[in-house]
Amino acid sequence: MDSTTDLQDRLKLLWQSIESSATKAGRGTASIRLIPASKGVTPEVLSQAYEIGLRVFGENRVQEAREKQPLLPADTEWHFIGGLQRNKAREAVRLFSLIHSVDTPELAQELDRRAGQAVKVQSVLIEVNVGGETTKHGTEPEDAGSLIETVLKLKHLDLKGFMTVAPYEEDLEKVRPCFTRLRNLRDEMETRYGVSLPELSMGMSHDYQVAIEEGATLVRIGTALFGSRKPVFPLAD
Ligand SMILES: *Cc1c(COP(=O)(O)O)cnc(C)c1O
Repeated sequence: MDSTTDLQDRLKLLWQSIESSATKAGRGTASIRLIPASKGVTPEVLSQAYEIGLRVFGENRVQEAREKQPLLPADTEWHFIGGLQRNKAREAVRLFSLIHSVDTPELAQELDRRAGQAVKVQSVLIEVNVGGETTKHGTEPEDAGSLIETVLKLKHLDLKGFMTVAPYEEDLEKVRPCFTRLRNLRDEMETRYGVSLPELSMGMSHDYQVAIEEGATLVRIGTALFGSRKPVFPLAD
């Protein structure tokens, strides 16, 4: 079986499913972008993904992205979706067009400083722990306001919206309130600060359908597209 065809079939099914969730919610698909989560995906499969038209990938390790990026054509866009350590900020600014996971003022300030040095305005999302799990990254919802104020003051950061990783639940109706909460938070913050925060990065293979119903604009999908895989670069960073 040709694996490019497999990938194409999975992509087609995924888009059909995304479209049907969007339709169910009375939305079009123009505001929804699929971000293939490519951690652990080999360069060969990434090239196949590029061949079938995918032009953006979400990586969650700086080191892995640094090794893979030169292997793909230059018009490929890369997002950072994992937890980011401050000592990786300079590299992250160099490698990614959108960083989904700003969750502390210290990280925001370091990214701003590094973006300034690189003469770049770095697009970012603030990651919010709406699920309340202690193991998860992300600012607590009650701290989101002060983090937004910090980010809005930083000249080399452009805040585009919010991201969350929902807790895993078998019953998707238990996940839905997380996504609703993130959307409501976004709406409140737009009103409070008089800014536009269009992006909601929420939904993964298991829960993207409810995320789309609740307003996701960026869905980060790995397994449903690439199948399950082992990390190719197991080094933690
Ligand atoms: C891996 C990952 C995803 C994709 O997860 P799947 O369940 O494989 O779709 C999404 N978001 C983040 C932050 C990830 O690390």
